[in-house]
Amino acid sequence: MKTLLHEDLRLIGLQLDKNIFPRVLNGGVVMPSKTAIPSIIMGEVSNDERRKRQKRPETRQGQRPPRWQGETRGRRKTSGATQVISSSIHEKYMDELVSLKEAYPGMKIWEQKDGMWLLCQSALIPNALHRAIFLCGIPFDPRKRVRSWGFWNEGVWIGPRHTNMPDGSICAFEPSDGTWLPGDSIIKLLDIYTLWAVRHLHLQVLNRWPGAQVAHHAYERLSELKEDELCGCGSFTKKYGECCRPNDLRRDRVADATKFIFDGGADRKPPEDVMRFIDEKDTPPLL
Ligand SMILES: [Zn+2]
Repeated sequence: MKTLLHEDLRLIGLQLDKNIFPRVLNGGVVMPSKTAIPSIIMGEVSNDERRKRQKRPETRQGQRPPRWQGETRGRRKTSGATQVISSSIHEKYMDELVSLKEAYPGMKIWEQKDGMWLLCQSALIPNALHRAIFLCGIPFDPRKRVRSWGFWNEGVWIGPRHTNMPDGSICAFEPSDGTWLPGDSIIKLLDIYTLWAVRHLHLQVLNRWPGAQVAHHAYERLSELKEDELCGCGSFTKKYGECCRPNDLRRDRVADATKFIFDGGADRKPPEDVMRFIDEKDTPPLL
């Protein structure tokens, strides 16, 4: 059983290293892709196509490749969105609820005045030691960012790698690159989180983060990235050891560490009200 898990993870990791997007099936089960075409070549799918795929969630794949995990400091630029836009976003989310519950069975939803909380589970790899639990706070105001946290099913927070500073929320893509925007499919968002958790599982089991990644802090790259991982500058081909690491080593490490600590990088963790909710599953914090 252990060998099967290792083999599945290894295969998925190899595909991610080539920027091949694994398949995410219902229940957040991740399977290696059947195609050997890198996601970046497959290009962006149209909204129509995306909608069709949502209706067939058992074969969701091939969506625009996320530019993968990095730090998401700073707010996305807003465009003076109005209340009208926010209510249309609310409607879009509501329209997706039926297919969302099919794609992630057992999902719990708490609706509040300004947004909703989702609590759902992804099986990840069959026979894996853990499943992943996601708590997602999704505002109806498009100017506010989605905040989500990942936990192993034992209630242990998934981090600190590729989580935001300082609240330890999931950092699964660069908000500035349009991978997922307010009003986009929540299934797509959860699929991206599912792959983020599988990459954490790969890190835990095989001791290496698979696939392209972004880490903005030099100290973060030095302390967290392994030399044989793809470089934290977002390269799809170069390993950290032969790309930015030599330069990171030449920098003023005390100054870099100080900045990293100042930005909350050293003690990333979920806020207390989030941890309490994960323990008690009673009333979620206010969005
Ligand atoms: Zn680099």
